Amino acid sequence: MDLYEYQGRDLFDRHGLPVLAGGVATTPEEARAIAERLGGRVVVKAQVKVGGRGKAGGVKLADDPEGAVAHATNILGMDIKGHTVHKVMLTVTADIAEEYYFSYLLDRANRTFLCIASVAGGMEIEQVAEESPDKVAKVAIDASVGVDEAKAREIVAAAGFPAEVADQVVDIAVKLWDSFVSEDATLVEVNPLAKTKSGQVLCLDAKVTLDANATFRHPEHEELVDQAAVDPLEQRAKEKDLNYVKLDGEVGIIGNGAGLVMSTLDVVAYAGEAQGGVKPANFLDIGGGASAAVMANGLEIVLSDPSVKSVFVNVFGGITACDEVANGIVHALTLLEQRGERVTKPLVVRLDGNNAEAGRAILDGAANPLVERVDTMDGAAQRAAELAAAGV
Ligand code: GDP
Ligand code: MN
Repeated sequence: MDLYEYQGRDLFDRHGLPVLAGGVATTPEEARAIAERLGGRVVVKAQVKVGGRGKAGGVKLADDPEGAVAHATNILGMDIKGHTVHKVMLTVTADIAEEYYFSYLLDRANRTFLCIASVAGGMEIEQVAEESPDKVAKVAIDASVGVDEAKAREIVAAAGFPAEVADQVVDIAVKLWDSFVSEDATLVEVNPLAKTKSGQVLCLDAKVTLDANATFRHPEHEELVDQAAVDPLEQRAKEKDLNYVKLDGEVGIIGNGAGLVMSTLDVVAYAGEAQGGVKPANFLDIGGGASAAVMANGLEIVLSDPSVKSVFVNVFGGITACDEVANGIVHALTLLEQRGERVTKPLVVRLDGNNAEAGRAILDGAANPLVERVDTMDGAAQRAAELAAAGV
C-alpha cells in the first residue's frame, strides 16, 4: 500500500525524523486556517500518489494565508498524471540550500535490502542514475544487521555527503531504517532530503510503501487506507476473503490458482482482439479446494460487475477434482437463485485435469442453458470473448 505524502510525513514524525510542521486541507478555507496557524509563509503541496508533483505545478510557495488560499484553490481538483487532487498538505517553508536523495527499499532482484543515496537529489533519481551514475550510491543492507551507526557512516561516505551534514544524515539514516523495519515498509524515500541555509537537514518529501502482507501485524495501518479510492467490488470481495482485482474489460474471469488465472487473462485479452478489443473484467483466484459456497461468492462478485457481459470459469483440477468443481458451479447457480440473484449472463466453463470427464458429465447433466462447456482453454477464451462482444 502506497501512502500519501502527509501520511508518510506523519509516520516519519512518529519515528523522530526531522519534518516540518504542517496540516492537511480539503478546501481553500481549511488551507487558510492551517496557513494562519503555521504563521503565514507556507508550501502548498498536492497530495496524490504519484511523483513529479513539483514539475506538474502541484507544489507552490505562498507568502501569506491569502496566497495559500489561492494556491489551494488552483491545486485542489488539479489532474496530475491522471490523479485528481482531493487534498493538499501545507507545511512551513524551508530555505533550501542543497537537495539530496535518500531511500531504503526491498531489492527483490538481489534478494536484499538496498539503500540508495545521492547528493544530487530533488529531481527524479532515475534521471540522475542515467546521466551521472557515479553520483548515486547503492549500499546493500544485511537484514540481520540493519543500519547501525557504522553502516550509516558507510552510506554517508559512499554517497559523499558533505562533512558538515554527516552527523545529521547518520542520525536520519538510522531512524529511517528503524521506521522501515518497524512499519514493515518495502520503500521509504526522501527526495529531497534538504539542507537548509542554516545548516539543518530536513525530510521535505515522504514516499512510503507498506507491505500489505504484514497488515496483520499493524492494525493501526488500516486507517491509512484511502476508503474513497477503494473499488467497491474489491472491498466486497475482500470481506468474502476472495482474491479479486477489478480490471476494465467485459469478460469476467474465475479460475483456481493465481498462475492459471494470470494466463487466463492473457488468452482472453488475445482472443478479445479479434472481437473489437474485448478484455478481461477482473482477476479472481478462488484457490484450490473451492467449495460451492466459494464458487457462489466468486460468481456473485463477478456477475455484479455491470461491465461483465460473459464469464469464463477456467478450472484445472488438481487436488480438487473437476467433479467437485462442477458440483460447485451447479450448486453456486442454485444458491444465487435462492439469494434472489437472477443470473442472466452466459458462462463458459472449461474443466480439465483430475476427473475432468466426470466433471463435464455433471455440467451436461445439469443442462443449465446459461452454461456452455468448452474443453480447451483457448477455445473457451475465444467463446467467452465472442459472447461478451455479442452482449455489449
Ligand atoms: P515531488 O515533485 O512530487 O517529488 O514533490 P516534492 O515534495 O519533492 O517537491 C518538489 C520540490 O519543491 C522540491 O524538490 C523542492 O525544491 C520544492 N520544495 C518542497 N518543499 C519546499 C520548501 O519547504 N521550501 C522550498 N523552498 N522548496 C520546497
Ligand atoms: Mn519529491
